[in-house]
Amino acid sequence: MRVELLPRVCLGHFPTPLEEMPRLAHHLGMARLLVKRDDQTGLAGGGNKARKLEFLVADALAQGADTLVTAGARQSNHCRQTAAAAAHLGLGCVLVLGGDPPTEIPTGNLLLDMLLGAELHWSGPYRRGEQLNQVVEALRAAGRRPYLIPYGGSNGLGAVGYAYAMQELAGQCEDSISLAAIDRIVIASSSGATQAGLVVGAHMVGYRGQIIGIAIDKDEMPAVPYVERLAILANEAAALLGITKTFSSQDFVVIRDYLGAGYGVVGKLEREAIRLVARYEGLLLDPVYTGRAMGGLIDLIHRRIIMPEETVLFWHTGGTPALFAYAQALV
Ligand SMILES: *Cc1c(COP(=O)(O)O)cnc(C)c1O
Repeated sequence: MRVELLPRVCLGHFPTPLEEMPRLAHHLGMARLLVKRDDQTGLAGGGNKARKLEFLVADALAQGADTLVTAGARQSNHCRQTAAAAAHLGLGCVLVLGGDPPTEIPTGNLLLDMLLGAELHWSGPYRRGEQLNQVVEALRAAGRRPYLIPYGGSNGLGAVGYAYAMQELAGQCEDSISLAAIDRIVIASSSGATQAGLVVGAHMVGYRGQIIGIAIDKDEMPAVPYVERLAILANEAAALLGITKTFSSQDFVVIRDYLGAGYGVVGKLEREAIRLVARYEGLLLDPVYTGRAMGGLIDLIHRRIIMPEETVLFWHTGGTPALFAYAQALV
């Protein structure tokens, strides 16, 4: 298979570790649980957005941009890593954040956005980049050269980062564990490029196990269901990589049973999963994404939808700086 080499800037620490979680596996009655540590990608606190940004920022530089512009929730990990990438490369960074300017002392990712020197725009009820185009126009009018990164860094180029992540995993698996022995990969899925990219990467490396996305956010665009948007992202990434396969919504498994009280609301599911993994493995999850995804995985194990003899890889996508902003809901 011919895979195009796309421009990439080095921003993260790769390959991220692939580790066992033996005490958690034993506690849950599972044969083998692995964790891929994308909470350790570096770039000011780790997380999955580092992989997407290596390609997105390379494109920004190729286009001569001087400012990265993106959007997210107040505790967005994507915004924090974008701010770090901009600072590292000497670019400006404008973040369009949901909510109103904080009245309390900033903490978690928001504190880091400020330390990293990002310019903040507050967009009230909008946390998915609804006002991004307006902000970009205003920057252009002011003589700057903005580069727009979509909500969550999720477009075809962002997904390319996760196609290569799957290749990275395949390379790591050669010595310690065979890729084919991994029955399922479980990830938190929200704006989509992570899951879309992993599915493209699975095709590239011939991985035949199941990739399960645990939905983190309700579907706000039901006109185009989430699995169809995943297929679109995968096809965009495939085109960039010179892969001819066409992906469809059937190529994606998304479980929407764990949305609780909504995006960013910590409930019993997340709280218990975070505590369990912390106490059995000394491993920190995050309150918004990986706490929910791990809570979902544990429930699928309890319901015997995932069976005890399986080997499951939990792909840790980061987000731990947000723990501090959710202290009240966690203790
Ligand atoms: C953004 C994010 C996700 C979701 O990734 P998508 O590519 O948006 O689906 C999962 N976990 C963490 C910690 C994130 O910040």
